Amino acid sequence: MSIPLAQRFHSWFGKNLTLPDDSEEVTRQKKTFFNANIGVVLVVGTLTCTTWLLGLPVLCSYGFGLVAFNVTLIAIFLKTKRLSPYFYIFNQAFVLLFTSFTIIRLGGIPSSGGLIFAKLAAIVYSLSLPSKKLAWWSFLLFVATTILEAALYPWLTPAPEMTPVINQAFFVINATWISLFMLLIVFYVFKQRADLEQAKAERLQEVDDLKTRMFANIAHEFRTPLTLIGGMTELLREDPQHQLRERTETIQRNANKVLRLVNQMLNLARLKDGSMPLQLVQADIAAFLFYVFNSYQGLAEHRKVKLHFLSDHQPMVLDFDPEKMEELVGNLLSNALKYTPAGGDVYFDFYCTKSSAEQLVIKVKDTGIGIPANQLVYIFDRFYRVENEQKNFEEGSGIGLNMVREYARLMGGDVSVESKPNKGSGFTVTLPVTRLAPLQMSTPVETVSPEPLDLGWMPTENSDPTLPQLLIIEDNPEVIQYLRQVLGKNFRLLAATNGNEGIRQALEQVPDLVLCDVMMPGKDGFEVCRTLKKDFRTCHIPVVFLTARADTSSRIIGLEQGADAYLTKPFNKRELLACLRNLFIQREKVRLKFSSHINGHEPETTDGLDAVFLKNVRAILEKNYADEAFGIEELYRALNISRVQLHRKLMALTGQSASHFIRSFRLEKAKGLLRQTTKSVSEIAYETGFSDANYFSRVFAHEFGMAASDLRKGTVKLP
Ligand code: ADP
Repeated sequence: MSIPLAQRFHSWFGKNLTLPDDSEEVTRQKKTFFNANIGVVLVVGTLTCTTWLLGLPVLCSYGFGLVAFNVTLIAIFLKTKRLSPYFYIFNQAFVLLFTSFTIIRLGGIPSSGGLIFAKLAAIVYSLSLPSKKLAWWSFLLFVATTILEAALYPWLTPAPEMTPVINQAFFVINATWISLFMLLIVFYVFKQRADLEQAKAERLQEVDDLKTRMFANIAHEFRTPLTLIGGMTELLREDPQHQLRERTETIQRNANKVLRLVNQMLNLARLKDGSMPLQLVQADIAAFLFYVFNSYQGLAEHRKVKLHFLSDHQPMVLDFDPEKMEELVGNLLSNALKYTPAGGDVYFDFYCTKSSAEQLVIKVKDTGIGIPANQLVYIFDRFYRVENEQKNFEEGSGIGLNMVREYARLMGGDVSVESKPNKGSGFTVTLPVTRLAPLQMSTPVETVSPEPLDLGWMPTENSDPTLPQLLIIEDNPEVIQYLRQVLGKNFRLLAATNGNEGIRQALEQVPDLVLCDVMMPGKDGFEVCRTLKKDFRTCHIPVVFLTARADTSSRIIGLEQGADAYLTKPFNKRELLACLRNLFIQREKVRLKFSSHINGHEPETTDGLDAVFLKNVRAILEKNYADEAFGIEELYRALNISRVQLHRKLMALTGQSASHFIRSFRLEKAKGLLRQTTKSVSEIAYETGFSDANYFSRVFAHEFGMAASDLRKGTVKLP
């Protein structure tokens, strides 16, 4: 069968003969059954015609019987599309019994034209059957019928149609085609087994990949706090007195974060094996939930998301486990804040239903990014994280919602979700209300603020204009603080807390270097890098990724976006400094090479967008240099960029300020005219846009180390 034909058969079979609930194994059995029966009908049909032509009535009736039986089975299968176990039982029994009967009619095994092979084929076919028992029964029937044929032999007389020639001819024909049939069956069975093995191996590989992804997810979560713990410890070692309290607080907070993560994972394992008891108290849950809600205010402010408390403050005394309730509600609130962009709203509400089976309903709604409908069913699965274009939106381990569901179920309730992409999500937890636990008068509050937000101790910025300017794009304020301390001495720092803001600042300020996180709200780091590298105003700026995503594929994606370096958290302070310094020096080298070609052709070292930019600048100056009113303002307007952008870009590429660049261009032109024309120095000065001939002479001498009048007189030879 040629491949396209096989494929066509495959798709026809898939469309017409498989049912939606068929497993791979059932489809395999159906195919084997169908193919084998069609094969038998074709071959036996041909042989039956031959026996009919040769006038061999017993063989002909045998062939006819077999064909009729197989056609009936195929017809039933085509109609029902199902294979019942009776199919196999009837098939095996009929072939074995009907063949034995014919062998006896033909006068025993020696004069049956090799029909014993048909029985053997049935045995081999039984290898492919779903039931081992049936294979055994087939074998027993084969042995029993064969013994019966042998036992009856003395009383049998060979049928008149089985002459020695016919007997031998059919023996050879049957031996040949049936052996071939058996060979095909064996091959087929082995192939199917190999396919199943492979599918199993692929499934195992998938599980393995899932595990790797899960560990990578969790590792990310650990990297940022560990960076801060390690980094702050190093800073403290270097200067133990400086900001001792703030630095130790950062260490403490981040150590707590790591501990919380570890506890979450351990709790999840305990929840799964059912070894986590509820520790109920009877207290005012309204006051408790209000307290938990309030502990997220700081985080909400930092993320510029509005948190709304919708419930009235009426006391609600009932049983709950404070620790687990805090985890449950905290997870929902922090997710809502995490997946809602700045300017959005998060609503928190809870109430008791008035029905006979009283229930506590807790609702957390947001106006965030939402969840695609096809992924809603999976979000409560352990380690599941929504796959979409916003994948890099936030770091996460994918255990939060699983935990929420497990806790809700442990408390006898459940959680549900409603969500629309780009509109928002709403999570509802419903719990049964009981009032049996010991009464506690005070609110059992022990919550810790979920995120560090005190930014009051930032060191003053270094404003030395000779230092290179570095833009940090990072959403974790503590990491920004730490980077400020590490880099503040060597760079003038700018900071942006999300991708959009980072792009805006990079375009506005055109810094010398960009240090960028990958997972951020808004545009992720990859997109920031792509945007900057595509814009002629910022394409020359080296971009360094500093990220918790340590896997090779993220690293490759980062470098493919045009990043100049990729550092992973936790990073070594000296490595980061060395990397930034090297990139800056490299950029300087390119610039030096470039500045020696200012008014000539572009050097090969500049990449496309930079060369195009300089070409444009030169083309505009070429048109306007004679106009003395043409200056920086006219140039940046003509280029459609800002003064700062023009200045920073020219500085980065040529080491010259915009006014210097324009003046150098004019002086080059003047130098050409002095050499090629007989015009006077002052005439040339006016023609190249200098309004004052004395000023022209002064700057000319400064630029070229010779007086313009000397060049005119020919006393100096220009190189
Ligand atoms: P994670 O640590 O990734 O936040 P969770 O188990 O808390 O893990 O959430 C699973 C996934 O569900 C998240 O990765 C996120 O894609 C999605 N999700 C959870 N809460 C929200 C929400 N309020 N808005 C949008 N998506 C959400």
